[in-house]
Amino acid sequence: MKNKIVYLVGSGPGDPGLITVKGLECIKKADVIVYDYLVNPVLLKNSKKDVEMIYVGKKGNQHTMEQEDINQLLVDKAMENKIVTRLKGGDPYVFGRGGEEALVLKDNNIAFEVVPGITAAIATPNYAGIPVTHRTCTSTFGLITGHEDPTKNQSDVDWEKLSTGLGTLTFYMGIKNLPNIVNQLIKHGRSADTPVAVIRWGTTTQQKTVTGTLSTIVEIAKDIKPPAITIVGEVVNLRDQLNWFESRPLFGKTIIVTRSRDQASVFSDQLIELGANVLEYPTINITVPDDFGPLDSELERIDSTDWLIFTSVNGVDAFFNRIFELGRDVRDLKGVKICSIGPSTTERIKGFHVSIDCQPPKYVAESVVEALQEVEEIKGKRFLMPRTDIARSYVPEELRKLGAEVSDIIAYKTVLATDGDNIVLDKLKAGEVDIVTFTSASTVKNFVKIIGEDNLTAFKNNVQFASIGPITNESAEEMDIDISIKATEYTIPGLVQAIVDNVGQ
Ligand code: SAH
Repeated sequence: MKNKIVYLVGSGPGDPGLITVKGLECIKKADVIVYDYLVNPVLLKNSKKDVEMIYVGKKGNQHTMEQEDINQLLVDKAMENKIVTRLKGGDPYVFGRGGEEALVLKDNNIAFEVVPGITAAIATPNYAGIPVTHRTCTSTFGLITGHEDPTKNQSDVDWEKLSTGLGTLTFYMGIKNLPNIVNQLIKHGRSADTPVAVIRWGTTTQQKTVTGTLSTIVEIAKDIKPPAITIVGEVVNLRDQLNWFESRPLFGKTIIVTRSRDQASVFSDQLIELGANVLEYPTINITVPDDFGPLDSELERIDSTDWLIFTSVNGVDAFFNRIFELGRDVRDLKGVKICSIGPSTTERIKGFHVSIDCQPPKYVAESVVEALQEVEEIKGKRFLMPRTDIARSYVPEELRKLGAEVSDIIAYKTVLATDGDNIVLDKLKAGEVDIVTFTSASTVKNFVKIIGEDNLTAFKNNVQFASIGPITNESAEEMDIDISIKATEYTIPGLVQAIVDNVGQ
């Protein structure tokens, strides 16, 4: 029998990469996850498939659940002999009420462990270019709750000592109280010229930072809403030189990725690494064909096939998955030459421990035929092309003209995705999106279908469209979409480069 235990885990400040290794393990093994508003939902994807996920977030005054009920929930779930992971933003013991939860578990004789997390006061100034201590500025650093009303009679914060006794001061939950905090600090002797930064959603792609001084920050930060942290001290001046996070090329850009959910991350991860705020909005789904019969009969006579041509990663997956499903393996491909349209497709083929014989210099259908001709005489050869139901017929037609026998077989279907998030359309309408990306002709067509032509007309002049290659450009033109960012190398890295070049202009 499993032993019941509760892990109180700090998930870090927002950037999903900033959780600890131990924290991530606790997410992976949890039967139940109880999580807060400040936890990046991306982290939850690491959980078990059948995990019970319970949101108990507190956002400002809107409490999904009172603290006493959360405490009880942890006890109840553990009593069901479950592994419970309680995920909190930042560190559980820094203004996180982790101590209260741990005490309740202790009172109920339930085993618990507490996994520290990187707290907002450490991580968010860093991501805004501010080291919290610096030898020439200060050697002291304080973490203070700004939630408390500093004008109340019996303050737990000793403003007298705090204002001049410590160098760097960081205030959690202090946005509403900012005018009071600033007044108290100046009143108790801190210079009105002391630099101040306010950072909202620090370490995430939505990070926003404003800076000023104790005398100016209230006005400057008046539009900043929680969650935000306030940093007071000379160290704020280092931001001018050390602002690595916000200076990345795509920082502040909101970019929509329209690829299928399974394929989106290869692209999204590259954009996120460059600082973009990525919204995944799948427009296509990849599914199995209605009938495997034609592909299966081709596999029966694979030894009489001269060439296999793959024009997409999905085609590679569909083909090999079918081979394995039929209880066969890659030895059946002995003697068959393989052509791949471009580097991603090649990489996927190699992933099945199969090498390729031909890859055209330009990653388009036109170039495939030319490249094959350079390898050998086409006439009289048998070609097999496992492809999608909506593929172009250029390659098979041209090869047939050259005297080849070509079987272009539906190995997978590209269908309209229906699980997109409405938030994306709202953001498009509100002008909160910078770039919409298209990685195939079908992503363009389906995007227009899902969004609707009227909606498209309403926002298309406020957003830029980016495309991976000529066929996708053509498809966009047909839909009256103006592609202002065009990849010159027709690959995902090529498209990323085109976006970076465009933003840099
Ligand atoms: N336990 C958390 C703090 C919870 S209190 C920690 O260790 O970080 C909530 C406050 O933390 C917010 O009001 C805000 O002041 C601060 N905070 C948490 N994450 C933040 C982020 N990503 N950006 C800015 N402030 C953040």
